[in-house]
Amino acid sequence: MNDFMCPKCKGHLRVGDHIIFKIKNDRKETGLILLSPQIGNYSSIKHPSFEFGQGELVDFYCPLCSASLKSDIHKNLALVLMKDQEGKGFAVYFSQVAGEHSTYEVDGDSVRAAGEDAGLYTYFKIGEKFKKYF
Ligand SMILES: [Zn+2]
Repeated sequence: MNDFMCPKCKGHLRVGDHIIFKIKNDRKETGLILLSPQIGNYSSIKHPSFEFGQGELVDFYCPLCSASLKSDIHKNLALVLMKDQEGKGFAVYFSQVAGEHSTYEVDGDSVRAAGEDAGLYTYFKIGEKFKKYF
């Protein structure tokens, strides 16, 4: 089972089969969203009263320490840390734009991209930034 952690407080964001985030939409309304821990699975669960449109940039926050998860690579990409079953660490970047399916699993030297919109952010260089997290 992959574990997901906040890059700031290292708190565990995975509970059962979901990763929990606090999010904020364009209108500065906040809500909770549950995402799948499977890379490339873009199903999500939220309360029906919390709305955002396709293409809207939704800000992701750690539900534990409230830190913004916006990455320093691109404002559209959020960052979480992941550890796989063997304890190997990855930085996982994913798009905060609603409906945009792009995820990057980085282990320092290599980037594994997932999602049909992954081509949008392939220009970034991550090797050095990765090292500070593990
Ligand atoms: Zn945190």
